[in-house]
Amino acid sequence: MSENPNETKLVNFAMANSIRRKIINFLADGYRSTGEIGEIVEKATLGFHLKILKDAGLIELEEETVKLSEYGTNFLKGKKEKNAEEITDFSQAKPIEIARVKQVLPCIADSSKLRVSANMTPPLSGVLKLLEPLFPRSNYSDRKDSLIIQKGEIITTVYGSGKVSIRMVENEDEAKEELERLKSIINEAIAKGEAPAPREKAKVDLIEIYKYLPQTNCGKCGEQGCYSFAIKLMARQVTLERCTLLKEPEYASKQEHLQVLTSYI
Ligand code: SF4
Repeated sequence: MSENPNETKLVNFAMANSIRRKIINFLADGYRSTGEIGEIVEKATLGFHLKILKDAGLIELEEETVKLSEYGTNFLKGKKEKNAEEITDFSQAKPIEIARVKQVLPCIADSSKLRVSANMTPPLSGVLKLLEPLFPRSNYSDRKDSLIIQKGEIITTVYGSGKVSIRMVENEDEAKEELERLKSIINEAIAKGEAPAPREKAKVDLIEIYKYLPQTNCGKCGEQGCYSFAIKLMARQVTLERCTLLKEPEYASKQEHLQVLTSYI
C-alpha cells in the first residue's frame, strides 16, 4: 500500500464515497465495460467517479474497459482480509428460526416449478459470509450481502436482511423441507460457535457451465456461440456479465446457478 501521504489522501478521498466503493467492489470479479458499470451507478456521474478512482491509482481505463489496477487489487484484498479478521466466529450469532413462508409463486424460468419466499429471524447480516463453506456449492456476495446456495436444481438465496428465496422447487413441501435443512445446518454451526474451515474447491466442468447458458448462440457476448463462451468462462477470460441474455428474467435461475458455479472455477 502507498506510504506517500498525497497518494493516501487521494485513495481515502476516492473510497469515502459509496458509489465509488460500489464500483470498486463491482470490479473485484474482473474487468467490466463502462456500460456494465453504468447499469449499477448513475450514468450521468460515471465519468466523474471513474476519473477520481483512476487518479487515485485504483483502476485502469482502456477505451470502454475498466479494471482494477494492481494497486487497486491489493487494496481490495487488504480490506477483505481486514474484514475477515473482524468477524471470525459465531459468538455473537443466535440460533435462527424460519418465521414464515410468505409467498409461493410459479418460477419465471420454469412455470412448472415454484419460487417461495420466507423470513429468517434473527437476520444473519454480519455472519452470513462465514456460512459459505457449510454448503458444497454456494457463493457469498459482498455487494448484495447475500448467500446463494445451489443444491441440484434448487437455488436458495439467503439475504443479510433475513429474507430467504427458494427457486425451482416442485411444491411448497419441498421448499419447507429445504428451509428446515438450511436451519439445522446453520444452527449446528452457530451452536459450535466456530466459523467453518475454508472450503475446498469443488470441481466444475465445461459441460456443467454450458448446461446453464441460454444456448441461443446469439453471439451478443462477442463469441461464436455459448460453447465458446463457456470455454472462455472456464479460462477466466470473460465474466458472466458478457452474456447479456442472462440478465433477462426468464434466465434468472440459470444466472444464479452460473454465479455459484463460476465461483468454483
Ligand atoms: S450472449 Fe449468452 S446466449 Fe448469446 S452466445 Fe453468448 S453466451 Fe450464448
